Amino acid sequence: MRLLKSDKFNDKKILLIDKDVKNNNDRTWCFWEQEDGFFNEIVYKKWNTISFLSDGYSAAMDISPYQYKMIRGIDFYNYCFDEISKHDSIEILRGNIGDWVYENEVLNIEVDNKKYLFDNTILFNSIYLPKPSNKETIKLLQHFKGWIIETAEPVFDPANATMMDFRVHQQNGTSFVYVMPFNATTALVEYTLFTKDLLRSEEYDKEIRHYIQSFLHIDNFTIKEEEFGIIPMTNEQLLFKKNGWNIGTAGGQTKGSSGYTFQFIQKQSQQIVDCLIAKKPLDTLPAEPRRFRFYDNTLLEVLYYNKVPGSEIFTTLFKKNKPQQVLRFLDNETNLKDELKIISSLPTWPFLKAAIKQL
Ligand SMILES: Cc1cc2nc3c(=O)[nH]c(=O)nc-3n(C[C@H](O)[C@H](O)[C@H](O)COP(=O)(O)OP(=O)(O)OC[C@H]3O[C@@H](n4cnc5c(N)ncnc54)[C@H](O)[C@@H]3O)c2cc1C
Repeated sequence: MRLLKSDKFNDKKILLIDKDVKNNNDRTWCFWEQEDGFFNEIVYKKWNTISFLSDGYSAAMDISPYQYKMIRGIDFYNYCFDEISKHDSIEILRGNIGDWVYENEVLNIEVDNKKYLFDNTILFNSIYLPKPSNKETIKLLQHFKGWIIETAEPVFDPANATMMDFRVHQQNGTSFVYVMPFNATTALVEYTLFTKDLLRSEEYDKEIRHYIQSFLHIDNFTIKEEEFGIIPMTNEQLLFKKNGWNIGTAGGQTKGSSGYTFQFIQKQSQQIVDCLIAKKPLDTLPAEPRRFRFYDNTLLEVLYYNKVPGSEIFTTLFKKNKPQQVLRFLDNETNLKDELKIISSLPTWPFLKAAIKQL
């Protein structure tokens, strides 16, 4: 989208290969930002106040100058394909990509068992291929099921989104619910876990229903849509440059300790386009400061071995720090002084031991 909208690449040919047609509302992206972003036109809903709830601390927090925003997958796909249809320079090939390799600088891609050769071509890859684990690899799954529900009576406060509600039981590991109200009668209610294994399908449903009835006190509702997703949370180093240029989750843009990805992708996409426009080599792209990966890996280690329950970690983060500072930290945009303040608010020994192990 950034390549197309820049109008600087109209003399280049772009080929987009994907196995899916992308005509389903298969995901909902939530993220925060201070100003209007590149996809502002399709933001479905935004909130100035977010709530954090747990047994130890609950607060509705004004996050200005940030806003918490939501983009629906289907709006995103339609918006992008509409833009694509306006450009002759881009072609779409629907098919399943097998292997790809550069042979003497010629890109060789297999799509639906057919070979395609391209010379003088830059490849951007979004297919996440996890590396085989070794004893240092930590792999947690962020898995979630969400229902968009509608009620007959107005029950939701459309001005307030619940970012995390940890009051649900923690028997399976770090578990919370978020509630994104679209209006007084419609909301996305999503049950989320950070654990090693998935639940059985009916368990997610049982937990969402229980939350709606026991915490939201809603008995009568209709399920309008459902979504299910898995996001890898890992200390595995996913490289930008490897057999082409890896972008998105495949290129390490998923934050290992939180699963947030959307804004990291936006930041990196802009940097890639700026780099191409400036005719600079792509390996000069600014990398995230390495200390953030270290923080993520430390937090992952603590979560993976359950040294401190996730509910306690997030409760402490929000109780002892300003929400804006927590959001900035989760965006990898804090400075060392802010980070020391945030880190010192967490339980020292478990984090120190995990940090030494990750070092
Ligand atoms: C349900 C869900 C909700 C999420 N919500 C949030 C959120 O709220 N906030 C946030 O920050 N992040 C969220 N994420 C994480 C992340 O933002 C998304 O996963 C995002 O879509 C990642 O973008 P991507 O380009 O890396 O991968 P994708 O969007 O998954 O794109 C990969 C593309 O590759 C195609 N593909 C894969 N394999 C092949 C193949 N063999 N041949 C051809 N094509 C192939 C797929 O069809 C797909 O179009 C969510 C993820 C999911 C799954």
